[in-house]
Amino acid sequence: MNYSKLSIIDLPDNTFKGKKVFLRVDFNVPVKDGKVIDDIRIRKTIPTITYLLDRDGKLIVASHLGRPKGSRDPKYSLRPVAEKLSELLKSRVNFVDDCVGEKVEKAVRDLKEGELLLLENLRFYEEEEKNDPEFSRKLASMCDIYVNDAFATAHRAHASTYGIAQHIELRLAGILMKKEIDALTKVRENPEHPFVVLLGGAKVKDKVGLIEYLLPKADAFLIGGGMAYTFLYAMDKKIGKSLLEEDLVDKVKEYISTEKIILPEDHVIADKVSAGANYRADREIPDDMIGVDIGPITIQRYASLIPDSGTLFWNGPLGVIEVDEFSKGSTEICRAIAYKTKHGLFSVIGGGDTLTILEKAKLDEDEFSHVSSGGGATLEYLAGIDLPGIKILNDKG
Ligand code: AMP
Repeated sequence: MNYSKLSIIDLPDNTFKGKKVFLRVDFNVPVKDGKVIDDIRIRKTIPTITYLLDRDGKLIVASHLGRPKGSRDPKYSLRPVAEKLSELLKSRVNFVDDCVGEKVEKAVRDLKEGELLLLENLRFYEEEEKNDPEFSRKLASMCDIYVNDAFATAHRAHASTYGIAQHIELRLAGILMKKEIDALTKVRENPEHPFVVLLGGAKVKDKVGLIEYLLPKADAFLIGGGMAYTFLYAMDKKIGKSLLEEDLVDKVKEYISTEKIILPEDHVIADKVSAGANYRADREIPDDMIGVDIGPITIQRYASLIPDSGTLFWNGPLGVIEVDEFSKGSTEICRAIAYKTKHGLFSVIGGGDTLTILEKAKLDEDEFSHVSSGGGATLEYLAGIDLPGIKILNDKG
């Protein structure tokens, strides 16, 4: 695959003037009482939106929100997003309460240069997730240019991430998409050494693809989180009532045999996985206790193994970060990564809990080389899979 995809910034400014541009974004944001309560995903797409509006495009913006399962559910309407977007852009945002059909076609016809129209939730139609050809064709008939800035859904071949683009000649990466592809391709194909992968989270299962793809390329894997206990179990260590995926023990033994796997030496152990638990740090895990975080010795060791230069990729919390007392491993290691990034480390961090960790560690996104907006998409990309939403975009050159 050509990893260099054509993006909106590669083309002359007049490319977009007066053109109807369909922009697929990830506005899958939490909404409560009709208000967006976390706008980070919207803010991440603002550079692409203003870039296209400043160049006089007629912008048709589309997203999914939640899982309405193919029917119109007001709970998942994008109307509150239109309000938030208008606040962030400090300009009017037109909203139409559908994403295909006559009403939408009229709203598109009425769009003027430099104006934006936000469509209603794509997943109000089951055709979206089914990548239905007719639905894809209808979406495509509205526009001249296709832009995808929704990296987090690029691993799904849906009508708005794949089908639509088959009908459009100019299929471009937005600015956020370009950043994701550039950073993750560097990690995946061309990492500077030493290259260290730090993995946590609940399950080994979700990360098997990534481990197998990156194991030959990386110098070391530091393992934490719930997934560490399957590795420790495979080495005949006592893990008490910690998480265990028995069906993966043999596989994990193969990984350990590469001698690239580094495991926790001590743990925070607790009698339950919730606030108010009795807990302490220990090297051993008694039968009735659960490993809920990496311990202080492991924090020091892992921090010292984060290279001063080279490449680091991190996905998954090193402990149960939902509980403050069990979040120290993740926050301390996160601080160590930020510190090394200042001194030349190329650091890419990602996963669903990343923002919670940053918040708890009081760190900003710009203290890392790249903070990936993808969960499953990032893991699949780093497992060497060519994601359909990226594959369909035009190659550069
Ligand atoms: P993932 O989605 O695979 O990245 O997993 C994230 C989840 O892993 C978070 O909800 C954490 O609470 C959980 N987690 C991390 N460490 C542990 C642990 N030692 N035991 C149980 N759950 C954990």
